Amino acid sequence: MNTQNVVAKKKFGQNFLKDESVLRKIVEAMPKNENKLVEIGPGLGDLTKFLVDVKSVEAFEVDTDLCKLLQSIFKEEIVTKRLHITCGDVLQTWKSTLVDEEYDLVANLPYYIATNIILKALADPMCKNILVMVQLEVAEKFCATAGEKVFGSLSIIAQSVGTVTIVTKVPPTAFDPQPKVDSAVFLIQKNANRSNREFEDMLRVAFTQPRKTLMKNLSQKYDKPTLIEAFEKLNLIHTIRPHQVDTKDYHQLYKII
Ligand code: SAM
Repeated sequence: MNTQNVVAKKKFGQNFLKDESVLRKIVEAMPKNENKLVEIGPGLGDLTKFLVDVKSVEAFEVDTDLCKLLQSIFKEEIVTKRLHITCGDVLQTWKSTLVDEEYDLVANLPYYIATNIILKALADPMCKNILVMVQLEVAEKFCATAGEKVFGSLSIIAQSVGTVTIVTKVPPTAFDPQPKVDSAVFLIQKNANRSNREFEDMLRVAFTQPRKTLMKNLSQKYDKPTLIEAFEKLNLIHTIRPHQVDTKDYHQLYKII
């Protein structure tokens, strides 16, 4: 089998990135450091080729046919230990850390599990930076700032651990086969690890009904007089909606309630 006669498997979210200008933009956006590179879903190896030129790469691919193909394409890099491929479902392999040294995740992620992978990487203490392609709608959720309609738990969780930037938007024509949606590459530069479960539980309650007021949502679980006191302390009006409160104020609220 060669890359020409591979039939993309929908169940693994296979949309291969063919536009070389986008591949170059991903490589240019990589933080400059000594960290190892981790690629989830190397696919036909188009991005991998660029990555192994920069640093050594630890790759995880679920599709056994593609694993065999990658092993023949990258024979030399595997022998020289520039590339190591683990064949299997990355979510099964991932314990508290994915690899046992500091790494940056650089990948065109399978969209059906992209959010899950990013949340795991945010919690992984060995993961220092996350540079990934996902569907545009998901990238916007992670990168939104307070006041924007899509600002929510994902934005707050990501922005609590570092800085988040959209690198580039990518149209369906950059892929083969073409996905139905637009995509985007975005970067999270971590300076901490994912916040605690109780804080995230509070966020879930805060955004249960995004169009209702934050006070109404939080009152379902938290003591009303404490909430009133907290809102006053933080100068938050009672009619404020969940997406209008910024990350810093959510942390203050958490401390008080
Ligand atoms: N990196 C390639 C590219 O840019 O052309 C392929 C990207 S494609 C969007 C997603 C890749 O992730 C596919 O190769 C797919 O087989 C792989 N994949 C899907 N689910 C996976 C999982 N659970 N664990 C590891 N790899 C997975």
